[in-house]
Amino acid sequence: MFILGSCSAESREQVLLTARQIKEACVNTPFIFRAGAWKPRTSPDTFQGHGEKALEWLAEAKQTYCIDIATEVATPEHVSAALKAGIDYLWIGARTSANPIATQAIADALKNADCKGVLIKNPVSEDPALWIGNIERLEKTGLPIYAIHRGCNHQPCWSMAHTIRTARPDIPLLIDPSHMSGDAAKIQSLLSKAAELHYNGAMIEVHPNPAEALSDAKQQITPNQLPNFILPILDNTPTFNEVELEWLRAEIDELDDRLWATIAARMDVSERIGVWKKAHGVQPLQPQRFEQILAQRQKWAALNNLPPEFVQQLFHLIHRESLNRQQ
Ligand code: PEP
Ligand code: MN
Repeated sequence: MFILGSCSAESREQVLLTARQIKEACVNTPFIFRAGAWKPRTSPDTFQGHGEKALEWLAEAKQTYCIDIATEVATPEHVSAALKAGIDYLWIGARTSANPIATQAIADALKNADCKGVLIKNPVSEDPALWIGNIERLEKTGLPIYAIHRGCNHQPCWSMAHTIRTARPDIPLLIDPSHMSGDAAKIQSLLSKAAELHYNGAMIEVHPNPAEALSDAKQQITPNQLPNFILPILDNTPTFNEVELEWLRAEIDELDDRLWATIAARMDVSERIGVWKKAHGVQPLQPQRFEQILAQRQKWAALNNLPPEFVQQLFHLIHRESLNRQQ
C-alpha cells in the first residue's frame, strides 16, 4: 500500500499537478493520493492549510485521475467535511494521536462512516500503549484500520513499531519515512529497512517542487524519484525469513544510535564545563569528584543489572575523552 502526495494541499493547480505527475511516475503501481487540508503546525505564523477548500481539490484529483484520496483529520468537524468530500482514507496525525480524547471524538464521528479505512500514526512521544489504545478506539468503528510508524523527533522508533507488530500482527503496518527523518536524503534507506522488516506499505511525501513547498520542504521527494524508491522494493520482495531477528537488530541499531547521540551530548556539556574551569582557574581533573561520580554511576548501573567492572571500564573511557575535551 503506497500513500503518496504532498504534505499540504497548496492550491488547486499544485494538487492536480502532483496527482498527475505521481500517476505518470508510478505507471502500474496503484497508490492512494494524499494531501493535508488542515496542518497541525508548530508555529501559528506558518501555513496552516486551506481547510475545506482543499478537499474540493482532492475530490477533483480523484475524479480526474481515478485515484483514492486521503487526508488528515484532527476533529469531528474535519471528519464530517472529509466524508462529505468523498475522502477514501482518513489519517490521524501524530499530534492528535497523542490525545485520547481527540482520538475518541474522531472514532465517534466515524461510526457508520462510508470510507475505505483509517490510518493511525504513532503518537509524537514514544508510547506504544497509547498507539495500541488508539487502534482499539478506531477499530470500534468497524472500518479497516492501518498503523503508520512515523517515528519520534525525526528518528525511527523500531522498538515501538516492533511492539505494535507483535501485539497486533493483524493490523497492516506502514512506514512514513518522510516525517520519520525530516530529510529527503534518508528516505530510500528507511524504505529498504521497512522492506526487510516486512512492512505492509509506505506513506511518502511527494511534491513537484520540494524547495517551494509550503510545509515540510526538506523531506519531500519529486514524483520522478518515485520509481527509483519504490520499484526496487516491489521487485525485491524480501526472501529473508528471519524477520524477528531483523526487528531485534533494528532495535539494537536504534539504541546504539541513541548511545552515540547521548555520549556526544555529554561531551558537549563537558566542553562547556572545561570553558568554565579555564575561566575560573580550576584544573580539568578533580579526583574527588571523579571517584564520587564513578561510585554513583556504578550504583545506577547495578540497578540496571550491569556488572560493576564493565561500568568502570566504560566510564573510564568516557571520562578520559571528557578530560581531552577540557585540555
Ligand atoms: C503529515 O502527514 O503531513 C503530518 C503532519 O504528519 P505527522 O502527524 O506524522 O507529523
Ligand atoms: Mn508533512
